[in-house]
Amino acid sequence: MTSPTQRLYYDDSYTLGFNAEVVEHTAYKDHPALILDRTYFYPEGGGQPADTGLINGVPVIDVQTRDSDQAVLHVLDHALDDLHIEGLIDADRRTDHMQHHSGQHVLSQALMQVAEAPTVSVHMSGDTMTIDVKRTNFSAEEWWAVEDMANTVVMENRPVRAWFPEPDELAALRLRKLPDVVGKVRVIDMGGFDVTACGGTHVARTGEIGLIKVERFERRGETTRLEFKCGGRSLHDYRAKNDVINRLASDLTVGYWEIPDALQRLQTEAKSLRSELKAAREQLIEAEAQTLASTASTHGNLRIVARACEGRDVNDLKLLTQKLTAQPGTVALIGLAGDKAQLLFGRAEDVSLDMAKILKVALAVLKSDRGGGRSNFAQGGGVAASLPDVATALRQAEQAIRAGNSTG
Ligand SMILES: [Zn+2]
Repeated sequence: MTSPTQRLYYDDSYTLGFNAEVVEHTAYKDHPALILDRTYFYPEGGGQPADTGLINGVPVIDVQTRDSDQAVLHVLDHALDDLHIEGLIDADRRTDHMQHHSGQHVLSQALMQVAEAPTVSVHMSGDTMTIDVKRTNFSAEEWWAVEDMANTVVMENRPVRAWFPEPDELAALRLRKLPDVVGKVRVIDMGGFDVTACGGTHVARTGEIGLIKVERFERRGETTRLEFKCGGRSLHDYRAKNDVINRLASDLTVGYWEIPDALQRLQTEAKSLRSELKAAREQLIEAEAQTLASTASTHGNLRIVARACEGRDVNDLKLLTQKLTAQPGTVALIGLAGDKAQLLFGRAEDVSLDMAKILKVALAVLKSDRGGGRSNFAQGGGVAASLPDVATALRQAEQAIRAGNSTG
């Protein structure tokens, strides 16, 4: 089967402007599409995204291969009736793809040679380029050795050759990856370092790939996925990270290599400050509990402490309730006013009252049914309530206790 489109990018990845004839006006997924007699636009495939660009000024939003006849579909933003066109490919995107696709070949070979880690799949999308290899448990030294080998091949600036060998020549080539196409196989030779079958766009010399940097890797079952950057993206990544590191070093007033130690020190300091703060708060609450206890009203053997407040931390109030009810014979009715009011009712172990029942009485005043607990401590609220409303709720609770109908 012969494709109606001559794929010129096979022999030349550098030409980005060209003229061609339209051989078919068609559609692809609800968008108009053109088939040309010849094209430099790369259609998505082999782990490489499609080129974008313009055809007679109309944005080319996607490029795909038609399954039925291998025609290249140039998917347009809006319809174009022309028969003679001028195509223009987005240069930055193409260069980025060429650098990463070529870099991937070099990296995959280095992974084989250094770590005996064969590539099982390659993904390229948006800002990320990944290689999945069939191996796990890499050491840091292995990663560095892989990077060193790959970047040496870059710096040697080896020539890159792409061609369609005849069957007997193809049979004699030791390809890293066997072709997944039927018919003519295109082979890419990275200056003798790596020879593999591939239909993508590549640089002419390995030096154009620029710095190859593995950014991170993660284990995925029996494989490892590594994320890497090449060329322009490596530079932008270095710049962004350098910026962050410099800012951190300046904020911490240390050299960048001292940042981990400085952070460790800060974390240790923060931890000890947190525990000091906790102890100081507890002392404050203890003092507050003593002051409040002296305001208790009595009912038989009971000492009832009722306190409505606002702008307080609920956990502090909980602690306050605990401190108060540590004293025998004490009942604590603490109320917090605000957008999400809270009532915290507790009693000493020697008091036989059901605080959950008393809480219900007070929650009814606030028109809330959210709350509950055990007989010795109950908490609820969650609705908006003013300080006077909360005070009323506490009074109702106290009255219920004095009425003596809530013994547990
Ligand atoms: Zn390739």
